[in-house]
Amino acid sequence: MSALTPESPLASKVFPSPNHGERKDGQRPSMLILHYTGMPHEGEALQWLCNPVSQVSAHYFVFGDGRVLQLVPESRRAWHAGLSSWDGEHDINSCSIGIEIANPGHPGGLPPFPEEQIESVAALAKDIVTRWRIPATRVLGHSDVAPGRKVDPGELFPWKKLHEAGVGHWVAPAATSDGRFFSRGDQGMPIEALQAMLVMYGYGLKINGVFDEDTEKVVAAFQRHFRPERVDGVADASTITTLRNLIAARPQAAA
Ligand SMILES: [Zn+2]
Repeated sequence: MSALTPESPLASKVFPSPNHGERKDGQRPSMLILHYTGMPHEGEALQWLCNPVSQVSAHYFVFGDGRVLQLVPESRRAWHAGLSSWDGEHDINSCSIGIEIANPGHPGGLPPFPEEQIESVAALAKDIVTRWRIPATRVLGHSDVAPGRKVDPGELFPWKKLHEAGVGHWVAPAATSDGRFFSRGDQGMPIEALQAMLVMYGYGLKINGVFDEDTEKVVAAFQRHFRPERVDGVADASTITTLRNLIAARPQAAA
């Protein structure tokens, strides 16, 4: 981006943040990470992302009314993901582009995202994944890459709508029902198999055959994104079937 011209045609202008650095090892963006700001006032959230004291930023900021600003050049490493991991990679900031969506989030009672905001997010995301050839399976929430620390963009974020707009990986969640399930304290082969499936999809988790706190948080993160009807960290049949269907529906990796 030049001082005045955003890189995405969806952004109306540049509003520069000083909070960025060099991408490690000359990496290029291969992931797109979505966030909510989690602050009551969007103007304050924007100022915070541009304040050198905060040490946080994102490449783009989307207001509730759908207006988009670019804060950090796409070639630079914005500071949005923090301690995180996906598919064995740990420096997510170096290989991703981050979008901050203005929304008060869980601390603010989880208000829904306005329609015009989601349309902007979808169009911006579509532009970014197209220009950088980012695979659908690498369009993720902050909670997917940092399940132990983060819950944004939250279970009200309409991943299904994004998928319908051509962004991200998604399958219809299997219907929830009562019946057999796995939860905290369970151990053994089925837990190991569940953990292996979560790791196969990309989540950062130790495969140890114990349904521990980390497993519960990863299951909750998975539900938040892919089976938002019930986010409780319990691996019920619907959760496991949805995960299996997602893995089966993964697009073949480009040769
Ligand atoms: Zn975040």
